[in-house]
Amino acid sequence: MFYVKKRMEVSGCHSVVSGGKCEELHGHNWIITVYCKNDQLDESGMVVDFCAIKSAIMGKLDHKNFNEVLDFNPTAENIAYWIANTIPYCYRVEVQESQNNTAIYEK
Ligand SMILES: [Zn+2]
Repeated sequence: MFYVKKRMEVSGCHSVVSGGKCEELHGHNWIITVYCKNDQLDESGMVVDFCAIKSAIMGKLDHKNFNEVLDFNPTAENIAYWIANTIPYCYRVEVQESQNNTAIYEK
């Protein structure tokens, strides 16, 4: 099995529908870590092109208001789930909002 792990820092803001203070628009420097695996490589010798992972996530989210670019309540959990279903061969995603708060989705 081949594995790749891609870590990105994304600046963005969101407001979370939760009934709490997270409903106020606020920003994070998100640390997003994407894990992919496949038992074979593509014709280039890759599981997934690191640049393709970066452009799919950074292109959509970096310096954006997540409420405007995503069509779901942008909790860290929902973002992790969305990424896992956007990136090919992805089986795990970690979305860190702050030093103490990380959501993980694993297929
Ligand atoms: Zn937040």
